[in-house]
Amino acid sequence: MTTPTKEPSPVLLWFRKDLRLDDNHALQAAATSGRAVIPVYIREPGVTERGPLGGAQEWWLHHSLAALQTALDGLGSRLILRQGNALTVLEKLIEETKAEAVVWNRRYDPAGIDVDTQIKKALRSKGIEANSFAGQLLHEPTRLRTGAGDHYKTYTPFWRAFEQSGEPPFPIEAPAKLLAPGRWPQSDTLASWSMLPTKPNWASEFTDMWKPGEAAAQEKVKDFIDGAIDDYAVGRDFPDRPATSLLSPHLALGEISPARIWHATRRLADNIAKDNVVRFRKELVWREFCYHQLFHFPKLRTENWNDRYDDFPWLSDTKLLTSWQRGQTGYPIVDAGMRQLWRHGWMHNRVRMITASFLIKDLLIDWRNGEAWFRDTLVDADPAANAANWQWVAGSGADASPFFRIFNPVLQGEKFDPDGGYVRTFVPELSKLDSKYIHRPLEAPDDVLKRAGIELGKHYPRPIVDHAMARQRALAAHASLKDGR
Ligand code: FAD
Repeated sequence: MTTPTKEPSPVLLWFRKDLRLDDNHALQAAATSGRAVIPVYIREPGVTERGPLGGAQEWWLHHSLAALQTALDGLGSRLILRQGNALTVLEKLIEETKAEAVVWNRRYDPAGIDVDTQIKKALRSKGIEANSFAGQLLHEPTRLRTGAGDHYKTYTPFWRAFEQSGEPPFPIEAPAKLLAPGRWPQSDTLASWSMLPTKPNWASEFTDMWKPGEAAAQEKVKDFIDGAIDDYAVGRDFPDRPATSLLSPHLALGEISPARIWHATRRLADNIAKDNVVRFRKELVWREFCYHQLFHFPKLRTENWNDRYDDFPWLSDTKLLTSWQRGQTGYPIVDAGMRQLWRHGWMHNRVRMITASFLIKDLLIDWRNGEAWFRDTLVDADPAANAANWQWVAGSGADASPFFRIFNPVLQGEKFDPDGGYVRTFVPELSKLDSKYIHRPLEAPDDVLKRAGIELGKHYPRPIVDHAMARQRALAAHASLKDGR
């Protein structure tokens, strides 16, 4: 008679901002461990510094988790959903399943780092193996250092160091199968998390615009390198041109790894204009640079990187803030951007810069209000990219646009949306207005407005602030600051 061999205890595979099977090092470690694998996603409400996900990103998360469940089914596995304090949930799962190991991919937002450090310590102290892996970035944020051993504060030398550091690691393939446990632990249902808006359903247009999930992300990379990347270097500045990858929401929840995208563009280098590939890669490296900043200055979301801005005389005006949020400023390119954000949960990068500049410099409203609004409404809300870019526009960031560079929203509109196609899409009440006046309806003669069916102040607002006055006011406010670091 043979004695029954004891099955090895399972390993918990903790998914976080890495909702994919491809190029997933924690998954690979679990799959090759010889143990049964129990994939789990924990909704961690109430981690205040990180905050709950914004509403738009919760919509995305719902669909992304559904896609991950389907993909795991295909490997003979499941996704266990639980909510609560991550350590408490993991300890409970360990007790229920007798797991002796937990693996995950690292995250780099400050609250996430705190939580993970405590969890690793607590689990190890109980004899549970706890291992973490890289995967959210091309390089770990500690890897690139200046000659003096410091972290980088400006982008250009960061990019140079990045180029000189060799190719980012090659992506690894998804496993073909996962060993299932003898018994699955109980799971919440996705529906019970109520992450989809109902009354009202403000995300009704998201479904036409987006397809969350890993398979869609892979498809999008392929489509982009087969097409739009050809116009990237120039076209990326024109919001009415489909020249950018639209990969940001997929990257934000880790449905695709930056390494997979980076290496997908390698195959292209010979076929298409190098400018396009380099420019695109530089944007991926901006994402890295934002994480580099957040990692080395964890208060990036709440405090000015440059403390000179701590005494900035911000105005507090809820009415103006609401007009900006609703796309009712009377500046067509600003309003188009803010309405694109509301309708699609996304805004073109050029217009993000224009709308942010308008809030900060024309309305003199603290950049943190804009960061919070974007965080709640963007499907690609990202703790590093959002905070770093808001500080970039505000002038308070590490490698910031100088404060005196104040966008004129009319000229920006005329330069980057010359025919007004973008404005017409998102501000339909202006759709019949002559191109000559599409970015300056205030200057349109009465008969032109009449022909377009517009009465200013009734169908479309008059400007809520005079840009020339606002510019002078912003420069004076800036001049009043003492020197900082
Ligand atoms: P592509 O042009 O195709 O670029 C490819 C990828 O590179 C993007 O998906 C993104 O991951 C990265 N990238 C591009 N531009 C930047 C940038 N300036 N900074 C950091 N990474 C970049 N991006 C976010 O992902 N999340 C945010 O919350 C976010 N908030 C922003 C707030 C402001 C005020 C501004 C000015 C920019 C913000 N961005 C943010 C950066 C940028 O606007 C978006 O990444 C980009 O528009 C996404 O579209 P895409 O995927 O088509 O970009």
